[in-house]
Amino acid sequence: MKFGGKSTKHIRLDTSNCEACWECIDECKYGVLGKVDFWFHKHVIVEHPEKCSGCKRCIDICPHGVFEPVPATPTHCKSLR
Ligand code: SF4
Ligand code: SF4
Repeated sequence: MKFGGKSTKHIRLDTSNCEACWECIDECKYGVLGKVDFWFHKHVIVEHPEKCSGCKRCIDICPHGVFEPVPATPTHCKSLR
């Protein structure tokens, strides 16, 4: 599955609000997050979505509300058939 660098199974991000402080990268203990770090263009990115534990530390640490939780998806909808 391709996540496009902006989500994992547990979190997704809106990089337009990112101030490139890199606090979330220090906080994520699983090496999920990385940097786009050009002098004119800086923001966080998801590099390894498969490593995300869903701990939500990135949501708590980011002062700019870049991260949000991904809502749980029902695994089946038999009751709707
Ligand atoms: S903590 Fe928030 S503002 Fe700072 S680099 Fe991470 S996403 Fe960007
Ligand atoms: S939820 Fe946890 S493991 Fe996943 S990116 Fe955020 S800090 Fe890293």
